[in-house]
Amino acid sequence: MFDYPVNVEIEEAARLLKGCVRPTAAETVPLSEALGRILAEPVRSGENLPPFDRSPYDGYAFRAEDTAEASQERLAVLDIVEEVPAGQQPKCTVQKNQAVKILTGSPIPAGADAVIKFEDTLFNRATVAIGRPCRPGSNLVKAGEDVRAGEEVYPAGHAVSPASQGLLAGLGHSRVFVYRKPRVSIISTGDELLSAEQKLTPGKIRNSSAYLLAGFLAGWGIEAKQYGIVGDDEKAIAEAVEECRRRSDLVITTGGASVGDYDRVLLGLELITAQILFWKVKMKPGMATLAAVKEGTPILGLSGNPSAAAAALLLVGGPALAGLCGRKDDLFEKITVRLAQDFPKGSPVRRILPGAIEFSGGRVDLNPSPRQANGRIRPWEDCRLLGLIPAGTGPLPAGSEIEALFLK
Ligand code: AMP
Ligand code: MG
Repeated sequence: MFDYPVNVEIEEAARLLKGCVRPTAAETVPLSEALGRILAEPVRSGENLPPFDRSPYDGYAFRAEDTAEASQERLAVLDIVEEVPAGQQPKCTVQKNQAVKILTGSPIPAGADAVIKFEDTLFNRATVAIGRPCRPGSNLVKAGEDVRAGEEVYPAGHAVSPASQGLLAGLGHSRVFVYRKPRVSIISTGDELLSAEQKLTPGKIRNSSAYLLAGFLAGWGIEAKQYGIVGDDEKAIAEAVEECRRRSDLVITTGGASVGDYDRVLLGLELITAQILFWKVKMKPGMATLAAVKEGTPILGLSGNPSAAAAALLLVGGPALAGLCGRKDDLFEKITVRLAQDFPKGSPVRRILPGAIEFSGGRVDLNPSPRQANGRIRPWEDCRLLGLIPAGTGPLPAGSEIEALFLK
């Protein structure tokens, strides 16, 4: 009856969509604009970080063996032969019973193999006295401690984090080669929809789903563009999809993806002879989800219902979106959590339960919003976890262990 899969498992739907996606082309951007961007090539280090052995303290650098016999009663007294502020290169080589006054970040002078904090010594301008043996290597920051020259610092697909930005700057990578930010268009379909700016009129609702979805997309470094509202009309939907397809890496529609008389997205996609990848997914919320591809551009048709749209965006669209961004990792990690509260409903189909993280006794609990209902946006407020309640499960008491996706 259908020449595409119908009623598919979440994983299958996600796989079919991801199969149509390739990372965007890459571009070079200044490091200062690279946060959250995905590296399109591995980064290798041409140098050590730090570049030289250096002192972590204000103190004295010396030869550890000169303190081998030192004690409070028999201080090792060393002659101070030089002072090296940070940014200067030491001139001397430390000889027997000599020390160099050194400041935090200064290079360790040749000959020295230990540093002592000035607070741990007795000193005057000419000499420093040390009252205990120091081990060779003590208080030295070794060159390459953070990154070694020649090392692969990050693989392609790595998301640039604050730490990555710092490390790359330290290594002199002031520009990075990253994937272009994917462009995703969101078309909101539904005769009942008004834009957020419009005054409510009887029977109408405002388009909230597009903003919810765009927020998630922006959080993943995707440029989400709202096309606006289209009625429940297959021709108008077809035109909107065609227009968005030209300027987007992926097109999302909301609404009209179910089986009702006014559900016209599938018809619209057939009008433009898009190849339908699947229709309907075994999940609640989010059953009314479909996907198609036309001339290489994937189209994800979500329910108009905000929570159904969000659940399917994450679970069905997540892997494809990660792939589009060029990410090596997924947008979430599967973990086991406990339910912080009773979940009173049965789950004939696999249920997606958005929840906040609650930390208790060193474990992560999922705290679902007390009133989960399909059309509600509030359960997504502090959502960091998506509980996956297996199909055929009855009401679950607090403390039940369930699988969940942790949103990174
Ligand atoms: P549909 O996916 O068209 O079957 O719509 C499912 C439910 O979501 C209906 O109650 C719609 O009124 C509502 N809805 C559709 N689109 C949106 C939207 N963009 N924002 C908020 N609610 C929507
Ligand atoms: Mg509708």
